[in-house]
This record gives sequence, C-alpha cells and structure tokens, in this order.
Amino acid sequence: VEEADRIRECIFCTAPRRRDEEALIIYRARLSYIMMNKYPYNTGHVMVAPYRHVASLADLSRDEVVEIGVLVQASIKGLEKALSPDGFNVGVNIGRVAGAGFAEHVHVHIVPRWLGDTNFMPVISDTRVIPQALEDTYRSIRGFIAGEADAMLKEG
Ligand SMILES: [Zn+2]
Repeated sequence: VEEADRIRECIFCTAPRRRDEEALIIYRARLSYIMMNKYPYNTGHVMVAPYRHVASLADLSRDEVVEIGVLVQASIKGLEKALSPDGFNVGVNIGRVAGAGFAEHVHVHIVPRWLGDTNFMPVISDTRVIPQALEDTYRSIRGFIAGEADAMLKEG
C-alpha cells in the first residue's frame, strides 16, 4: 500500500494521466516523455522521464535508455530552434543527497543557458528568473521539440 501511495503522488507518474496542456507535456514517446518543469531554473527548462517509476538510470532498460537519449537530443535541437540559447545544462540527480526533488522517479533535466543569465546554480538556487510565463514558453517550444522527436524516432 505504501508503494502504491508513493506512485499515486509521484508527479512523473501522475502527469502522463493528465491532458498535455494541463501537465505541460511536450511529447509522448513509447517508453518515456518530455515535460516542462513547473519550477524552472531557466526559461525552457524541460525534463525527460520514463513512464516507469524507477529511481536510477541504472534501473532503466536498454530500450528506455536509448529512447530517453533520443528525447534529450530532440529537446536540445528543438530548444535551439525555438529559443536560440548559447548553451545547455543537461543532468540527472540520483538520490536526495544529490539534489533530486523527486528522487524516486528518475528524470533528465535539460536547461537552456544564455550568456549573462542570472546566477545559475542548478541544484541549490532559490533565485529563479523566469522572464516568460510558463504557458507562453510551452506554446513556443512544443512544436519545435515534438517535430524533432517525431523525425528522430522515425529514423529508428
Ligand atoms: Zn513515479
């Protein structure tokens, strides 16, 4: 029962059961999906997660690793087209001690960076400068990222 409760409360398990716009889901693939972070470290901060409730990269199947890798690439390409960032932070926090807000369900952060953006501290920062509303960002990046993901997953 405790495990079932944890899964019920897990944002990465519940988000795919909601509508895309409501959960800010950008793309759904077979084993994993892309969602915007509602508490972004920077504009365009997205996350890639498996549908399965597993804690570590080491728990993923090979197919999940491959698909998640492709979705990370698609996120980078789509964000480059949509927002023209100067760089990215891409990373995974495994375990609460490493700064994972949701340690039970592994996810990859993709955070666009611009020259001169404020004081970026990927794990501990409380200062989050969000110049654009989440919904606006969602609308402006979704098509680009989904287009890249469709093209890349079809390539096989
Ligand atoms: Zn979960």
